[in-house]
Amino acid sequence: MTSSPLLTPPERRPRLLVVDDQPVNIQALYQAFAADHQVLMATRGEQALAMCVAQQPDLVLLDVVMPGMDGHEVCRQLKADAATRDIPVIFVTAHNDEAAETLGLELGAVDFISKPISPKVVRARVRTHLTLKAQSDLLRQWVYIDGLTGVHNRRHFDERLTAEWGRARRSHTALSVVLIDVDFFKRYNDRYGHQAGDDCLRRVASALRDTLRRPGDLLARYGGEEFVCLLPNTALPGALSLAQQLGAAVQALQIEHGDSSVAPVVTVSLGVCTLPGSAPGSAPDSAAALLREADAQLYKAKSEGRHRACGVELRADENLSQAHHS
Ligand code: GH3
Ligand code: MG
Ligand code: MG
Repeated sequence: MTSSPLLTPPERRPRLLVVDDQPVNIQALYQAFAADHQVLMATRGEQALAMCVAQQPDLVLLDVVMPGMDGHEVCRQLKADAATRDIPVIFVTAHNDEAAETLGLELGAVDFISKPISPKVVRARVRTHLTLKAQSDLLRQWVYIDGLTGVHNRRHFDERLTAEWGRARRSHTALSVVLIDVDFFKRYNDRYGHQAGDDCLRRVASALRDTLRRPGDLLARYGGEEFVCLLPNTALPGALSLAQQLGAAVQALQIEHGDSSVAPVVTVSLGVCTLPGSAPGSAPDSAAALLREADAQLYKAKSEGRHRACGVELRADENLSQAHHS
């Protein structure tokens, strides 16, 4: 990854999902938007839900009365699922009754449009809600970004760790974390100044981020001069090998460090811990154990001379064996 991982390219055309059991109604809305929007279409509620999960439209124009699952139920389910909760819904309905409109808004719809539609009115309302959606998407993204380095922050890491830990335990797949700490960074600040220290952290963050390859891999600033990687589906040998590459990438930056005792340039130490895919049912039931052991391995790498990686598999009894050094 070379750019900030979360930001949607602004040039992307907004994506609308039009849901109506009558093709003629879909046609009318399609014509109102096809020129400058990507328009997805569904004629049944179940189909609409599946498309929302898979395609993440920016807005849904939703018919209320449909055979099978009606619009109200579709809206209820969209708002109940974290994966689709933030997609705004506008009801498009022939019924102008107060009770139906109130129910729709209570279910979380942002607006109502009556049929037959006026293309001008629909376009204006949709534009307003798309603008609001774009702004809230941006805010949601920034909440998870570290201000100094532009990589994910600890809040995002903690949420992803909990989710990936649960997934790994259920599916019996491996999960690794790598803690990364800059060597002698206090001395770096003391010698070159805090501003240079900040610049150094930015460059280290980019080098680490550019070393990750898989789409599921995550890099976050863990705090201060520490970073952390979360590596789903990665066993210990793979995680240790990646840790080597991360360390080499930082060294390759060749950032002068005249007061380091291990190298003439900025280096890092890394601690790896892996939940094995074949983890026994009695493996620790909290992701905190993974971080605690990665931290212990980082400490080991520091005490064995820095500028190196140490790793271990997480054991049920936490009687850790199979430690690796490199
Ligand atoms: P070690 O090799 O044992 O890790 O030594 P160290 O000096 O890197 O470790 P220590 O934890 O003693 O010092 C970390 C330093 O990182 C202290 C602090 O001033 C600096 N630091 C933490 N966050 C930032 C930051 O955002 N910007 C800058 N410039 N420095 C920071
Ligand atoms: Mg530190
Ligand atoms: Mg340090």
